Amino acid sequence: MTSAAGKPPIPKLAGVCGWPIHHSLSPVLHSHWLREVGVRGAYVPFMVKPWEARAAFETLKKTTIAGLNVTLPLKMEAFLAADERTEDAQRIGAANCLYVRRGKLVAHNTDLQGFSDPLQARRSVDDLAAMSALVIGAGGAAKAVVGALLSLGVPEIMIVNRTDTKAEDLVAQAGLPSFYALPWSSRQIAVQRADLIVNASSAGMAGYPALDISLKKTPKTSLIYDLVYTPEVTPLLRDATANGLETIGGLDMLIGQARPSFQLFFGISAPDSDPSDILRAALASGRR
Ligand code: NAP
Repeated sequence: MTSAAGKPPIPKLAGVCGWPIHHSLSPVLHSHWLREVGVRGAYVPFMVKPWEARAAFETLKKTTIAGLNVTLPLKMEAFLAADERTEDAQRIGAANCLYVRRGKLVAHNTDLQGFSDPLQARRSVDDLAAMSALVIGAGGAAKAVVGALLSLGVPEIMIVNRTDTKAEDLVAQAGLPSFYALPWSSRQIAVQRADLIVNASSAGMAGYPALDISLKKTPKTSLIYDLVYTPEVTPLLRDATANGLETIGGLDMLIGQARPSFQLFFGISAPDSDPSDILRAALASGRR
């Protein structure tokens, strides 16, 4: 294939930046999708030092790189480096996706959609509009979860965090009566009345202690959503299954947040097929 000028088109290049970045599953996922859709391109990891990130991102406009995903600890730097910020990026105050439009560097955040899509696949608009949600954690992921739940119209959002003041700060920033913090010490009580429980903390991740809550008295109609995906079946998800509760695991959100990035970078939708097995194999082998 040749371009209008008679030269072959430049392969599309995108990637993910972080410090470190070796653990990221995004190159495995996007490379798989590129092969599936037959687009000539590549998606690669970039090591970017936090103290050089802003300057590095600002040069994106001068390259033919189609766009970048950004992971910890660079999400705030990406947000600040941009000329324009989408509504979703502003809602979270951080960016996980950078691209250039009409010569301007745009900061976006696909975590909102990544979280919402699997939830909307399980719960109707009416269910969501009558739901009481409990968010555990108050870091970057929790901010995206709360932003998503607010946009989905969830009428009651409780938040608990190991460090109470961080949850209280998030609530104070939002200033909404439907979103309130409970002390960490009362998390077990909240777990017994929530229709949706989201673990947006690092608890349960490999190398971290499990969340010390029990789902025995959680209503049987509740949905348990754990953002952690290493391991894929976390202690919380195991407890949920043992108590007959419906679950969503972290791989679903990982795939959900990657889909809009793929579309933005490569100009084509990611295939509808479920790539979970590709990610599971990469996690099991340590291959990236
Ligand atoms: P972060 O900003 O570093 O926040 C970590 C949060 O976890 C804080 O609220 C922290 O509480 C809490 N925490 C840490 N260890 C804990 C423990 N032992 N018990 C209870 N709470 C604990 O990290 P993040 O970006 O929000 O990520 C949180 C988790 O979500 C990570 O496991 C990450 O992999 C996962 N995540 C998954 C996806 C996905 O696509 N599936 C996307 C984003 C994040 P303190 O405030 O007390 O420190």
